[in-house]
Amino acid sequence: MTSSVAVLGTGIMGAGMARSLVKAGLDVTVWNRSADKARPLADDGAKVAADPAEAVSGADVVVTMLFDVDAVAEVMQRALAATPEHAIWAQTSTVGLAGTQRLADLAGRYGRGFVDAPVLGTKQPAERGELIVLASGPRELAPRVEPVFEAIGSKTVWVGERVGDGHRLKLVLNSWVLSITAATGQAIALTRDLGVDPQLFLDTIAGGVTDSPYAQLKGKAMLAGDFAPAFGLAGAVKDSELIIDALREVGDDPALMQAVHHLMSAAADAGHADEDMAAVVHAFR
Ligand code: NAP
Repeated sequence: MTSSVAVLGTGIMGAGMARSLVKAGLDVTVWNRSADKARPLADDGAKVAADPAEAVSGADVVVTMLFDVDAVAEVMQRALAATPEHAIWAQTSTVGLAGTQRLADLAGRYGRGFVDAPVLGTKQPAERGELIVLASGPRELAPRVEPVFEAIGSKTVWVGERVGDGHRLKLVLNSWVLSITAATGQAIALTRDLGVDPQLFLDTIAGGVTDSPYAQLKGKAMLAGDFAPAFGLAGAVKDSELIIDALREVGDDPALMQAVHHLMSAAADAGHADEDMAAVVHAFR
């Protein structure tokens, strides 16, 4: 029976997920390194803990939603010994294949169940409980984490029992969204720099076989200069590196993702790291 959930990390994604868990009637405790991002969740009905160990001390399920593998490992090293013996760790941050293995090994050292559960979707789906959860791990843990996945997501895909299968599919999906975003940035920049109204690019593909809702979403943001982060550029830089590692690991050519990584990094280095990855459009000049 899962009734109590700890959420470690209440950034763009974790805050929305915590609110969705509260709305689903679960008993939610949150912790965030910068306390100012966790505190407002008290108004939504979550308990706010002073440190990770306090947050997880009564948790049936611990959800981690932190930036990268080093952040997750560091926080969970402070928390794991305080988790109840029956607690399951649902790891939703995007940490790559080696990162997932490292965290599964850490859970194993403390004898805690581990479910790899990266998510698809950004800020708005997290707030609405409409993420897609890409889960993998021992099947017998599924009933214990499903109430959490049902609260944060509209769909759970159980990808396999192998550690990291959820992340294998997640990296494929992120390779797709990062590539579409960079390609949209290139099309908008090229239209503009050829002296044609870039809105005509989006209008011309609209509704046809080459259209994509994601290209429309990110293209509109690029044209409006609205880079409020839904999927942050710093995260896109991190994820493109994780995808390059995976391509190399299996012997596939990483050239396309290396180009995407180069462009995302250039835009981040030009001062846009905290903006949405649509800010990649700046890298073409
Ligand atoms: P975010 O808003 O930047 O949040 C990052 C979180 O990590 C914050 O809580 C931050 O704490 C914490 N953090 C960073 N370094 C830390 C450290 N060394 N120790 C402790 N806490 C640390 O990012 P986000 O968009 O929510 O992304 C979180 C994870 O979800 C990432 O792995 C990302 O790749 C993945 N993801 C994001 C999206 C998306 O569209 N945004 C979609 C799917 C998956 P502070 O507040 O103190 O900085």
